[in-house]
Amino acid sequence: MSFTKLLGECEAAFQLDTLCSGRRLPHAVIFESRDAELARKAAVELAAAFLCENEGKRPCGVCKACKKVFEGVHPDVYTVETTGGKQATGVGEIREMISDCYIKPNEGSGKVYFIFDKMTPEAQNALLKILEEPPQFTQFVITAEKSTLLLKTVLSRSVLFKIGDNGERDKLYDEAYDVALEIARAVPENIELPLLAATGRLIKSRELTQQTLEILAEFFSQALEEKFLGESGFEPHITNMTRIMRRSSIVKLYDVVMKAQEMLSHNCNMNVLATWLCANIRESRH
Ligand SMILES: [Zn+2]
Repeated sequence: MSFTKLLGECEAAFQLDTLCSGRRLPHAVIFESRDAELARKAAVELAAAFLCENEGKRPCGVCKACKKVFEGVHPDVYTVETTGGKQATGVGEIREMISDCYIKPNEGSGKVYFIFDKMTPEAQNALLKILEEPPQFTQFVITAEKSTLLLKTVLSRSVLFKIGDNGERDKLYDEAYDVALEIARAVPENIELPLLAATGRLIKSRELTQQTLEILAEFFSQALEEKFLGESGFEPHITNMTRIMRRSSIVKLYDVVMKAQEMLSHNCNMNVLATWLCANIRESRH
């Protein structure tokens, strides 16, 4: 296989194939894709390239290491597992991975760690330490549906590849993120205008509204994690909400977003929805 075969002819694939064959892989690679299956396949491809025993085009697909990686039985390829039915990988699992990093590989020339699940901010901060000074011959591969939900510090220590249809969907997502950010910033303040302006932008399209609501749900649940569970390391707009607002208000806001998603799924009028959202957000924040 090659990335060009896996992903089609695109810039990310060309770059990845060149890096793999030249043994110039960055210590940490992030695959961003809405298609989790595709992101995992890319992670396996990269692991095989990293551990491949042949020179030239890597992964060769025929050496012992490649075969083991593709069969999922290579002893130096680890998947960080989220334990205890939690929604995100916690700091404990990441610390466990870090201590394992310093143990020599079993049979390969190095070790590969897959992180497929969402990570709590604390877990990301723990990961950051190892990304700053990674042990030699260690390769980290992180997959994410949206890289913007990772901490900026983690992103800056990794090389990001957007694969699948993420490249095309970026414009819509960026706009939605922008609207959600405006709302998240306006919510704790008592200023009407930015909230009106932001929700007003949603009238434009259903797709934009749907994406914005998803991002808002994520923001409010992060704020709740910070407030309830004492997780730390969130972006400033989240911390600001947590600092100024009561728990009950954030719970209400989360419910408002859920209700808005339901209204959207029942094809409600966009003007009605934007107005409803603005009024209910305003009411919930007190
Ligand atoms: Zn090989």
